[in-house]
Amino acid sequence: MSDVSGSELRALMARVPSVEKVMASAQFAPLVNEYGRAQVLGAVRDTLDSWRSNAQAGEASVSALDVGQLHASVEAALRRRNQSRLRSVFNLTGTVLHTNLGRALLPDEAVQAVVKALTQPANLEFDLETGKRGDRDDLIDELICELTGAEAATVVNNNAAAVLLTLSALASKKEVVVSRGELVEIGGAFRIPDIMSRAGARLREVGTTNRTHLKDYEEAIGPQTALLMKVHASNYAIHGFTSEVGLDEIASLAHARGLAVAMDLGSGTLVDLSEWGLPREQTVRETIEAGADLVTFSGDKLLGGPQAGLIVGRRDLIAKIKKHPLKRALRVGKLTLAALEPVLRLYRAPEKLAERLTTLRLLTRAADDIRLAAERVQPALQRALGERYAVVAEPMLSQIGSGALPVDVLPSYGLVVRMAHGKRGGRHLLGVEKVLREMARPVIGRIADDALCLDLRCLEAADEAQLIGQLSGPLSGPLSG
Ligand SMILES: *Cc1c(COP(=O)(O)O)cnc(C)c1O
Repeated sequence: MSDVSGSELRALMARVPSVEKVMASAQFAPLVNEYGRAQVLGAVRDTLDSWRSNAQAGEASVSALDVGQLHASVEAALRRRNQSRLRSVFNLTGTVLHTNLGRALLPDEAVQAVVKALTQPANLEFDLETGKRGDRDDLIDELICELTGAEAATVVNNNAAAVLLTLSALASKKEVVVSRGELVEIGGAFRIPDIMSRAGARLREVGTTNRTHLKDYEEAIGPQTALLMKVHASNYAIHGFTSEVGLDEIASLAHARGLAVAMDLGSGTLVDLSEWGLPREQTVRETIEAGADLVTFSGDKLLGGPQAGLIVGRRDLIAKIKKHPLKRALRVGKLTLAALEPVLRLYRAPEKLAERLTTLRLLTRAADDIRLAAERVQPALQRALGERYAVVAEPMLSQIGSGALPVDVLPSYGLVVRMAHGKRGGRHLLGVEKVLREMARPVIGRIADDALCLDLRCLEAADEAQLIGQLSGPLSGPLSG
C-alpha cells in the first residue's frame, strides 16, 4: 500500500478518459467491430471502475491510466469472456476412452463429413430415388447390418437411450428377466433397475450376485414376461465362486418359450480386438450369432465413433422400436450420422483399422513409441517446473476406459513429476496439477502415490509439438515465481 494523497488521487482521477471518448477512439473500433458495442462498453466500464476503486484504495500498482493500457485490459477481458467453454485439452490421464474428456476421437474422414453436413443441405430424410420423404436410419442401417450380421438397425442418442427405447417399446407394463449379477451402474446416472422403471417395465431379478443358473431364468418366466435381458458387466468383475448363464443358453430358453432376448453390450466392438493384442471382447456379430434378438451398444466407446446408441437385431423388433414415440425424442442429428458412417466404413478394411481408426491406433500404440515421446517432452517439462521438481520418464499402465474392465491395462510410458530430493509432494504436486490444468490448452494428468503422472499414450505427433511449445512459454500460478 502506498499512500496516495488526496490531491494526487484527484489528479489521477482527472486523467481517466471518459467512457464516451474511449468508445469513440479509433483504437477501440476493431474491438467494437469484433465483439459488438454493448460488450466493449461493458468491458470499458468494468475496467475503469476497477481502476478507480484500486486508485481509491491506494494500491501501489496504480499509476496514471493511459489509453493503451486500458485497451490491453479491455481486450484481454473480452477475449476471456468470449473464449469457448468447451476447450481442447491434453488427455494425459492414461484413460483412452475418457467419458469426462469426450470419449472417442474421430478420424479425419468423419471430421470432413461433419463439416459438409454442417455447411451444406443433405438428404437427411429425403429419398433421392423417389423424391419423397425418407428415413434417416436408411443412410446407415445397411452398413451396420453388413458389419454386424443383423437384419435391421436403428440409431439413437446414446446407448442409455438405446436401452431405454428398447425396453419401452418391447416391455412396457411387462416383466424383464435379468440376473442379479448384471444389475450394473455405469458412470453414476445409468443404472439398469432405474432405466427399467423409467421405461415402464418391471425388473424380474433372478439368481444371486455371484451365481445365476439357467433354472433361475426358467422359473422366472411367466405370462407377464416380455423379454430376457443380459447386460455386459462393463466396469466390474466378480471373481471366485461364480456362475453365469451363457447368452446362447438364455436364447435357446427364450426362443423355446416364444420370447426375445436383448443384450446390452455396452462397448460395441465390431472386430476381435485380440488380433491387435488387446483384451478380447465379444463382438456384436458374435452376440447375434449366439442368439440375441436385439443388441444395444455405444457409438463412442470401442467402436471409435461419435456419441450414439446403436440397436441392431431382428427386423420385426427393430420395426416396433422405430415406431415408438420415444424414438422421435431420442433420435440422432445429422452430425452424428455424418460422423458415424465414415467410421463404420473403416471397418470394411480391418487390416488398416489400427492405422485409420483413432481409438484403435491409440489403444495399440507401442510402449516403445510412447517412451520416445516421453523422452522428447521430458526436458521441456523439467525446465518449466524448475529444480524443485524431478520429472522422470517412466513406464506406466494405461486403461481403455468407458466400461472396459479396469483390470485390462495396456503397457505405456509417461512422465512422472515428484518433488526433487525425495521430499513429499502433497500440496505442491496439487499446485503443479493445477498450473498444468490452467494452461491455454489444459494438461490433464492424474495424481497417484505422491506423484503426478502424465501418460503420453494419447499424445500424438501434432499434439506433442503443441505441448512442448506450450511448456516452453510462460507458466502461470505458483510455480512461475
Ligand atoms: C456404457 C454403457 C452404457 C451407457 O452407454 P452410453 O453410450 O454412455 O449412454 C450402457 N450399458 C452398458 C453395459 C455400458 O457399458
